[in-house]
Amino acid sequence: MPIYEYACKKCGLEFETLVRSGTVPDCPGCRSTDLEKKLSVFATAGSTAQAAPVAAGPCGSCGHPGGPGACALN
Ligand SMILES: [Zn+2]
Repeated sequence: MPIYEYACKKCGLEFETLVRSGTVPDCPGCRSTDLEKKLSVFATAGSTAQAAPVAAGPCGSCGHPGGPGACALN
């Protein structure tokens, strides 16, 4: 279930809320439905994780300069 961040255009309150399909969120401060939808918290975290570089060294796990398997001797 997605969590979306909204900014209320009426009172300026920013809040996060669960949004079920078919429902319209309203401002917890003034109950206005005139909201500006911002980025999903989950979507932002997911794209960040996917974009993160994978630390792959010569041995594929620890980056030991001795080459594949060298770290296993330590
Ligand atoms: Zn409001």
